[in-house]
Amino acid sequence: MTVPELVLLGLCGAAFGSFVNVLAYRLPRRESIVKPRSRCPGCGTTIRSYDNIPVVSWLLLRGRCRDCGMRISIRYPLVEAVTAALFVVLGLKFGREAALWPALALAVTLVAAAAALPIRTEVHRYPLERAGEALADLRAGRFSGAAVLIP
Ligand SMILES: [Zn+2]
Repeated sequence: MTVPELVLLGLCGAAFGSFVNVLAYRLPRRESIVKPRSRCPGCGTTIRSYDNIPVVSWLLLRGRCRDCGMRISIRYPLVEAVTAALFVVLGLKFGREAALWPALALAVTLVAAAAALPIRTEVHRYPLERAGEALADLRAGRFSGAAVLIP
């Protein structure tokens, strides 16, 4: 495999990693994975296309939303970078063999499974007087994880 092919494979990996982030964020919340475009969970502003470049945008924005300054988890560029690296490594290993495609699919699946884990352990804290709201949020699937009531 040539260097331009490996670079292209890495870029595809980063794009797949970015999609894995969308899946890991939206599926537990039962949101569409197609629409609307990605928004900042802090201020709700639609993320501009030039702020949505895998890994690069996170680095340029120093891990913060351009509009409200809310911190963006390092998890996102990490998932993108790991997927890109796996694609390049698999490209080096398999070259143009047909076995490359199932290997790439397996890599994306494993990254997606790993990326979903932290969301499954998210914990939301509710004051005791908002116990009903916590139960309603859990039932509505607004998050997957645990609700902790604080006295
Ligand atoms: Zn924001």
